[in-house]
Amino acid sequence: RAKEEGRGRYVFYNAAQLKQSRDRFEKEGQIRQAVREWQFVPYFQPRVHAHSGRMIAVEALIRWMHPVHGVLFPDAFIPIAEETGLIYGLGEGVFRDAVRSYSQWKHVFPEGFVFSVNLSAKQFYQVGLLEKLRDTVHQAGLQARSFELEITESTVMNLDQKTLTVLHDLRREGFRIALDDFGTGYSSLTYLERLPVDTIKIDRSFVTGLADSPRKRHLVQAMIMIAKALDLSVVAEGVERREELDLLLELGCEEVQGYLFGMPQPAEALFGALLE
Ligand code: C2E
Ligand code: MG
Ligand code: MG
Ligand code: MG
Repeated sequence: RAKEEGRGRYVFYNAAQLKQSRDRFEKEGQIRQAVREWQFVPYFQPRVHAHSGRMIAVEALIRWMHPVHGVLFPDAFIPIAEETGLIYGLGEGVFRDAVRSYSQWKHVFPEGFVFSVNLSAKQFYQVGLLEKLRDTVHQAGLQARSFELEITESTVMNLDQKTLTVLHDLRREGFRIALDDFGTGYSSLTYLERLPVDTIKIDRSFVTGLADSPRKRHLVQAMIMIAKALDLSVVAEGVERREELDLLLELGCEEVQGYLFGMPQPAEALFGALLE
């Protein structure tokens, strides 16, 4: 009887699982094809100097131009790409496109303009990552210091020697390193102590509703103080309201990013406007 129940459950569970794995399998196939045919486009979101409102950098955020479903966001495909190793080709392509856009539009950028690109944890295990990034930048006649690589705390959660070595190598090569979604990991301060980092990006969750929460205000203030003490750039992410910007200015946050200053958009739309 127990055996029967067990078997029943097994069959039931298996059916659901089968559908799930079939969906996933199809999706994986679609992503594989999309990488091969390169159906992706990086959108760019402005990062601005809080005081002047001047755009000083952009972050590349990948979009999948799906032939049937239209524009798809990273949440819909990055996790599967990471699990299947497709993130290597995807990551290379995003970086290549970002570099291409930089060189195409560099005449409209102010001195020191930075392109920020997100890296997955997995990419640190890619053989020749550093060489690929470096060669892509140099072949375009650009310099590594114009590029910032954003890593999340989940990337460095199981901080191992390999990841640490690659990070140091990238930094030595001239790439800037940003710690993304700062404050959401379990031991943000440990990472700051051990990682070669140039910038911290305060996670949106601390910024949303900042004006209505004294607790958030204190937390953000502490993060800004830490950044300054360590001589790091600090960016507040997800700024949507004027009140949030005002508070961030008051707290001494120098760089901001969010819908208040611009949505992620295609290169022509964002950089073309700089010409006018
Ligand atoms: P992220 O790097 O933390 O990027 C910020 C996310 O917040 C982006 O979502 C952006 O569109 C969104 N955002 C920006 N300003 C605001 C705002 O004012 N309000 C709100 N509600 N949201 C805002 P997106 O583009 O969907 O990207 C989600 C995540 O996917 C990124 O988080 C990043 O972790 C990952 N990602 C994006 N592009 C790439 C990529 O090329 N490679 C890898 N490995 N990951 C990527
Ligand atoms: Mg990011
Ligand atoms: Mg973030
Ligand atoms: Mg994120």
